Amino acid sequence: MNEEFKGALDRLEAARAEGLDAVAATLSTAELENVRVQYTGKKSNVSQVTQVMGRLDADERKQLGAAVNAAKTELETALSKRQTELGRREQEQRFEHERVDVTLPGMPYPDGYRHPLLLSVREILGILGRMGYDVFEGPDVEWERYNFDLLNTPKHHPARDVQDTFWVGDEMVLRTQTSPAQIRYMKAHQPPIRAAMPGFCYRNEAEDASHADRFYQIEGLAVDTDIRLTDLKGTLTEICRVYFGEGRRVRFRPHYFPFTEPSAELDIECSVCHGTGCRSCGGEGWLELGGSGMVHPNVLRAVGYDPEKVSGFAFGIGPDRYTMMKYGITDLRLFREDDLRFIAQFN
Ligand SMILES: [Zn+2]
Repeated sequence: MNEEFKGALDRLEAARAEGLDAVAATLSTAELENVRVQYTGKKSNVSQVTQVMGRLDADERKQLGAAVNAAKTELETALSKRQTELGRREQEQRFEHERVDVTLPGMPYPDGYRHPLLLSVREILGILGRMGYDVFEGPDVEWERYNFDLLNTPKHHPARDVQDTFWVGDEMVLRTQTSPAQIRYMKAHQPPIRAAMPGFCYRNEAEDASHADRFYQIEGLAVDTDIRLTDLKGTLTEICRVYFGEGRRVRFRPHYFPFTEPSAELDIECSVCHGTGCRSCGGEGWLELGGSGMVHPNVLRAVGYDPEKVSGFAFGIGPDRYTMMKYGITDLRLFREDDLRFIAQFN
C-alpha cells in the first residue's frame, strides 16, 4: 500500500477520533460552536487530509474521498446530537434560574397605625353615641355672628379678647370653638336634642407643650324640658368613667363662659401623681379637661327657644387633653410630629 495513502488514512482516523472526543467533552453550546469550526472547517485536520489527493492513484483517491466524507458526516451527526443535548440542558438551567417560586413569602409592607387622637375621637364619639348623641359637624370657616354674637359674646365683650382670632375678611373667622355648631344644630332642630359636634378650632397662639394654634374639640349639647346641672355632672362623670376607667377622680370647679350660666371647669386627677402634685400637673394634682355649663338663656333665645320652657347643658371635650391625661403624655407637640415610634404605641 502507498505509504502516503496509508498515512492519510491514519491522520484521518486520528482527526476523526479527536473530533468525536472533543464534541463529547463540550459543556456548552458556545464551546460546541468552537469545536465545530475547529474539526469540520476547511482548515480542520479532517479537510487537510485531502492535500495528498494529487499524489494518489484513482482508486486511492476514491477511497480517501469516501473516508473523509464519512468522517465529516459522522462528526456532523455527533455535533448535531450534542447541540440538541446541550441546548436542552441550557434551557432547563435558564428555566430553573428564572422560575418564580409562588410559595415564597411576599415583600412585607409596614403596617400603618391610627393616630392616637383619631382613636380618642372615635372612642369619645362612640361613648356619646351610646348615650344617644347625634354627630353634627359645622364649618371651620364661620360667621363672626355664629362664633361670637349668637353665643352671648357681642362685640367689645371681654371674652373675645381671650381668644386670639384668625379673621377671614371682615365678617368671618376660623372658628375659635366648636360652639357655633350648637347654634346651627339648634336652629335646625327642636328640643329634645342631644348632639355631639366634633371638629378643629383655631386660635392665633404660639405653640408650646400645652398650646397649639389648631386643636380638635368635641362639643356636647343637650336641651330638653327638664335639664339640670346634675344631669351635666352625671353625663361628664360617666364619660370620664368609661374613657379613663374606674378610679380616676374628677371634680367640677366654678368658671366663667359667656354662653353658659352657671359654668364649670372639669378637672381630672393627675395620672402621674394621683392628686399629690408633680411636675406634669404643675404641682396641682389635677388637670383641666374642659369647660361646661348650663346653656345661657340668651343663647336659647338667639335660636328661637323659650328659656322658660327648655333648658340645656353644653360641654367641650378636647381629645388631645383626654389622650394626654389617659396615657400620661406631657407634651402636646408629640401629636403633631408624626413619629411612628410614638404613634405605634397606641395601636
Ligand atoms: Zn401630677
